Amino acid sequence: MGKYVTLKKSDFNEFIEKLSKIKPVVAPVAKGKKSFAFAEVTTGEEVALQYIPTILPPKKYFMPQKEKILEFDKKKQDWTPILEYSEKIIFGVHTCDLAGIQSLNIVFTTKPKDINYIVRKDKLVIIGLECNNYCDEHASCAVMDNHLPNGGYDLFFTELKNSFMIHVNTQIGDEIIKRIKLFQEAKKQDFQQLDDLRAAKRKIFKDEVKVGHEGLKNLFDKSVKSKVWKDIDSRCVACGNCTNVCPTCYCFDVKDDINLDFNTGARYRVWDSCQNENFAKVAGGESFREDRGSRQLHRFMRKFSYPVEKFSRYFCTGCGRCSRTCMAQINLKETINALVKEKK
Ligand code: SF4
Ligand code: SF4
Repeated sequence: MGKYVTLKKSDFNEFIEKLSKIKPVVAPVAKGKKSFAFAEVTTGEEVALQYIPTILPPKKYFMPQKEKILEFDKKKQDWTPILEYSEKIIFGVHTCDLAGIQSLNIVFTTKPKDINYIVRKDKLVIIGLECNNYCDEHASCAVMDNHLPNGGYDLFFTELKNSFMIHVNTQIGDEIIKRIKLFQEAKKQDFQQLDDLRAAKRKIFKDEVKVGHEGLKNLFDKSVKSKVWKDIDSRCVACGNCTNVCPTCYCFDVKDDINLDFNTGARYRVWDSCQNENFAKVAGGESFREDRGSRQLHRFMRKFSYPVEKFSRYFCTGCGRCSRTCMAQINLKETINALVKEKK
């Protein structure tokens, strides 16, 4: 079961203040109505404890949108690898985003290992926060099995009536608890409250789509020729927003910036999207996925089929960001349900 402690809600502000003295803390912060982003905080008042998934997932700290990886001087034949990282504590990561980070960890630590990612990840402390309520109609975290904590954090907070119940999962988490002397040992009634909350959640978080967790791969594998992709083809504007906001999309491009001396410069890794027209273009100008419907099919297969074969897990966390952000209102849950309906 591991170690559990509690923190009084009245001590939360002091906790964040003390935490930010250990390392810079980033947490979900309100950015207008129903809009949140991870940003630096120094007090508890700034933290949004009730929030729907942030515009960008915490992926931005693990895999920045633009990252310098090399500096070069061609004349001197000098090629210096660059490793950019910063120490941070990420507070308030929901269970869906913990699953997203776990997916990225698998990708970047499987051969060929990505040293930049691994070093950066090791500088980040992760403090999870349980969703007690359903985010909104776009969430499908229960069918993806991500509505309850499943590891991937140093500490995990669950808000109870008057306190937070905290699971201490790593040595780093334990050191934080020992350093910030605000915690009490969890008592029997705290565990009871936690059990009651999780039992209530199991009843609310269900029936999100018309197919069960195990049936998703088969559904997509058998839907490659579906008319659903034709409908999506007619609506998608290929903006790439759905992949940018996705916590498990990790495709990148590598670009060189050469200075005016035409000699020195730097190489960058930048996010790329399979929804861009040029993404699947090869030498000679041919494209494997010319139409938008086939690019969307590819996106869905990269969530529900290919990673199951390669990594034995779905690469959709059920966060709902792609549906929330899509200006063409292409909706992940509606797409799944349309495919199920077609098969009947
Ligand atoms: S599905 Fe929506 S968000 Fe994604 S590329 Fe198409 S229009 Fe943009
Ligand atoms: S595919 Fe959509 S719902 Fe699934 S993890 Fe990506 S953004 Fe979230």
